[in-house]
Amino acid sequence: MSSLIVVHYGEIGTKGANRPVFEKFLEHGVRRSLRGLESPRVFKLDQRLFVNLDERDASEAMKRLSEVFGVVWYARVEKASLSYPEILETCLSVLGARQRGDSFRVSARRSDKSFPMGSQDLAKKLGEDIIDALGLTVDLHNPGVTVYVDVLRDRALVYTERVRGLAGLPVGVSGRVLHLLSGGIDSPVAAWLMMKRGCRPTYLHFYLAPTSQAVLQSKMVDLIRTLERFGGDSDLVLIPFAPYQLATTDLPSEFEPVVFRRFMRMVAERLAQRLGCSAISTGDNLAQVASQTLQNIVCIDSGSSVPTLRPLLGYDKDEIVRLSRLVGTYEVSLKEYKDCCAIISRHPRTRMKVQYVDEASAGFGFEELAEKCISMGDMVTMADGRVSVKPLSELLEKAGAGIEQHVTSSSRLR
Ligand code: ATP
Ligand code: MG
Repeated sequence: MSSLIVVHYGEIGTKGANRPVFEKFLEHGVRRSLRGLESPRVFKLDQRLFVNLDERDASEAMKRLSEVFGVVWYARVEKASLSYPEILETCLSVLGARQRGDSFRVSARRSDKSFPMGSQDLAKKLGEDIIDALGLTVDLHNPGVTVYVDVLRDRALVYTERVRGLAGLPVGVSGRVLHLLSGGIDSPVAAWLMMKRGCRPTYLHFYLAPTSQAVLQSKMVDLIRTLERFGGDSDLVLIPFAPYQLATTDLPSEFEPVVFRRFMRMVAERLAQRLGCSAISTGDNLAQVASQTLQNIVCIDSGSSVPTLRPLLGYDKDEIVRLSRLVGTYEVSLKEYKDCCAIISRHPRTRMKVQYVDEASAGFGFEELAEKCISMGDMVTMADGRVSVKPLSELLEKAGAGIEQHVTSSSRLR
C-alpha cells in the first residue's frame, strides 16, 4: 500500500519570477530528506509538493519533513476523485475511529473553481451527511477534529491533521556563506539560522589539536552531522591555529581575543572569495561576552571587504540554548573539546581601538600569516555519510580560480 503526503510552502510562493527556482530548491530539499527510504516519488502539482511512498515509510517521512526549511505545513492525506459521493466516503473513512457524539467541523477549500460546489456549500453538505452517517456533533469553534477537504484540479485531498514545518527558505536558494564554526553552543545555532534563510554554509574551523585528523575524531564532526540533517552534505575547512599562536606570543593577553578574531575574519575573507561564498557568518552575539561588544565587533570587521552576518545578534543566551536543543546540537556542544579560544585570555578589553588592531595586524604580518595558515589547511568533504580529507592547497591549486566552480557546482544543490 502507498501513502500520500502533501507539502505546502508559503513564503516562497510570494517570490514572483524566482518562484520556479525556489520550488526547485525546495523539491531538492524534500528529496534529500527522504534519502534511503524505499523509492519515494516527489512531484509538484497545483502549487504543492506531493510525496508518494510505501505506507511503511510514511511515519519516518513525516519525521524527516519536519527538518526541511521552506516547508510551512504538511499532512498525510487520502485522495478522492472529484465526485461528491467519493469525497464523502473518504471523509467517513478518515473519521472512522470517532465515537458517536464526538465533535467535528469540516473545512473545505476549492482551489479549482470548475468543481460545481462552492467551498461553503461543500463543507455544509459534508457536515450534514457526516452527522447522519456517524452521529457526530458539529462544533465550529472548538472541534475535537477538523476534516480538511482541498479540492484541486484533478483530485480532492482529505485529511485531519496538519503538521507545522520549519518554514523559512529552502537551503541553497540564497547562496553560499562561509560559516565560522566553533565547538560552542552559539555557532551551530547561527549556522541553522543562516540555513533557515536559504544559505548553504561551508564550515570553517580553526583547530588547536595537533593534526586535522584529531579534529575528525572530535565532536566537530557530530555537530556538522546534526546540522546536515537540515542542510544536506557539507564541506568543512580546517585551519591550524598553531602558526598564529607561534607568531603572536608577545601579544598582550588583554588584546588576544579581539586580535585573534580579526585574524580569523581575515582568513575567512580570503577563503570566502576563493570558495564562492558571498558572505561570512558567525555565532557572535552583541555584548554576550567581552570580545563581542559593539566596539570590538567594529575592530574585528574594520577593513573587511566581505560582509560578516551575525544571525544571533538579537537573541538572549537562553533563547539560543532553547534553539540549540531544538536543532539537536545542545548536548553535542556541551561535550569536552579544546578549542583555540580555550587558551586565549578570557578577560579582553571591552573597548579596543581599531587603530591598535590594525597595527597588530600589520605588525604580526597577518596577510602573509593568513596565506600560510590557508596553505596548511585541509578540506573535509562529508558526502553520503563518508568523510574524506584533502589538503586545501591541492584543491586551490588544481582548480585555480575554478575552485569556486568546484565547490558551488558540486554542492549548491546537495
Ligand atoms: P560559540 O558558542 O559558538 O563558541 P561563543 O559565544 O563561545 O560562541 P566566541 O567563542 O566568542 O563565542 O566566538 C564567537 C564566534 O567566533 C563563534 O560563534 C564562531 O562563529 C567564531 N569562532 C570562535 N572560535 C572559533 C574557531 N575555533 N573556529 C571557527 N570559528 C570560531
Ligand atoms: Mg566559543
